[in-house]
Order: sequence, then C-alpha cells, then structure tokens
Amino acid sequence: MTKSISCADVGVKCRWSTTAKTEEELMKKVAEHAKKEHKDIKVTPEVVAKIKSHIKEI
Ligand SMILES: [Zn+2]
Repeated sequence: MTKSISCADVGVKCRWSTTAKTEEELMKKVAEHAKKEHKDIKVTPEVVAKIKSHIKEI
C-alpha cells in the first residue's frame, strides 16, 4: 500500500502531491513542502490532523 496526499486534497490551491510508504514519511514530505511553498500556512496539530484525515491509500 502506498499513501498519497496532495495540497488540493486539503483545500490548498496547489498542484503538488506526493506519495510515501508510511504516514510518517508522508508527513515529513508534507512538512518540507509546506516550509518551502506555503510559508503562510502554520502546520499546527489541527492542520496535521486535517492532512492525516485526507491521506489516501493507493
Ligand atoms: Zn502545495
């Protein structure tokens, strides 16, 4: 199983998406992307929970 998430999934206007084998790895990639491209978005525990609820298994 591969986990997948995209910015559009969580309502961010961005074409970026990523996949990873584990949720931990996926969240690491999301955090790196948010740091670079979405400096205005603070990755709070609420935001993390929202992202996690949108993770897809592909
Ligand atoms: Zn993005």
